[in-house]
Amino acid sequence: MTTYLGCIADDFTGATDLASMLARSGVKVSLRIGVPYSNLETTADIEVIALKTRSMSSINAVKESLLALEWLKKAGTKKFFFKYCSTFDSTSKGNIGPVAEALMNELKVNQTIYCPAFPENGRSIFMGNLFVGQKLLSESNMKDHPLTPMSDSNLMRLLGAQVTKRVGLADRMIVSEGSNALKEKLIELKENKITHVIIDAVADSDLSIIANACQDMKFITGGSALAMPLSELYKLSGKISENNSLYNNNKLSAGSLILSGSCSEMTLKQVNDFVSRGAISFQLDPIDLAKNGTKKVLKWLFKQDFTKNIIIYATADPKSVKKAQDILGIEKAGKIVEQGLSECAIRAKELGMKRFIVAGGETSGAITKAFGVTQLNIGKEIAPGVPWTFFGPKDNQIALSLKSGNFGRKSFFTDALNKLENI
Ligand code: ADP
Repeated sequence: MTTYLGCIADDFTGATDLASMLARSGVKVSLRIGVPYSNLETTADIEVIALKTRSMSSINAVKESLLALEWLKKAGTKKFFFKYCSTFDSTSKGNIGPVAEALMNELKVNQTIYCPAFPENGRSIFMGNLFVGQKLLSESNMKDHPLTPMSDSNLMRLLGAQVTKRVGLADRMIVSEGSNALKEKLIELKENKITHVIIDAVADSDLSIIANACQDMKFITGGSALAMPLSELYKLSGKISENNSLYNNNKLSAGSLILSGSCSEMTLKQVNDFVSRGAISFQLDPIDLAKNGTKKVLKWLFKQDFTKNIIIYATADPKSVKKAQDILGIEKAGKIVEQGLSECAIRAKELGMKRFIVAGGETSGAITKAFGVTQLNIGKEIAPGVPWTFFGPKDNQIALSLKSGNFGRKSFFTDALNKLENI
């Protein structure tokens, strides 16, 4: 199968979010962790490559992105999508512009669009300014982000500082006139040598208009919300087909292992909720792990009934987390927990466990790496941006859900397991 839409995402959870949005239209989506080395014969209609280019140097971000593009081209890709965060995470020296320009040069296109809006999550763009809820981006929590503090809400200024060619705007007034008006505006901007076009969007209906107007473009950039109507349009026009080979749980054992290394407020609620429903649970203590290793938890794990739901968690209240961090150091505490949970995951998989839910962005990275997973097939969405994914041979699939930080509601783990039952 050749790929129709090829996407390059600038971070891992962003890629999962994108893959999950694309799969909403019921098409086959494959997520690759890093640039694949081979495996071209098993490509899907939609391929998403998860990179970690958001906060690396621009030179390396461009290099990595071009490698991903090369692989997608070999896979026969017709249309390309560059995905970044809905809060346009990047500094004035940031990577969105340089990566987009490099991809444009390679694809020989002289205009593209930029639309990070995600109305369902409160991200909207008006007159080129990005809002988070009712606040300007520069007045939202993003102003204090440790890696990419966003002190300017104006996307034209932000992008203008990152690119060599001219930046322009198709504002909400044009978008509200519909896709033909927007198409004409893009042509007019092109005649005026505007290469990079920011497009306003404040509602899902705007994104549908934009997707309609831009579906024939070879290269589009945006957030995951814009990709959703695009995959629907490609499906409706017969460019990609409905996914008939559902990833199913027929052969998946009944039990599940939940591994939680996330210390986000929401995850703490989710863990408490799941434990209070009677799940078999083990709480990892990083200080004990540092002293005595994983013997205790593994001994406990081996004794459990794998047809039941089991949770192993290091998730704790902020006071306990701080105590462990003060004693061990932040980085060491994190690594010890990630290694401990990874070991539990590997052992459980060896013993036949086939369903895993991982909570925590870093924790997810550590466990997928420990499993040696490089490709995931996207299944049902559990919560916005968090899908079930599947890997391994068709007759021996492992189900894996990766949830970062504050995603999902209180009953997330129960929701996730119910979704799997109903596939
Ligand atoms: P989130 O997505 O919620 O930020 P992450 O997995 O990305 O979760 O990050 C949480 C970090 O905290 C991980 O490195 C994890 O190993 C570490 N951690 C988990 N539990 C504890 C704990 N009890 N004490 C100290 N650090 C912890």
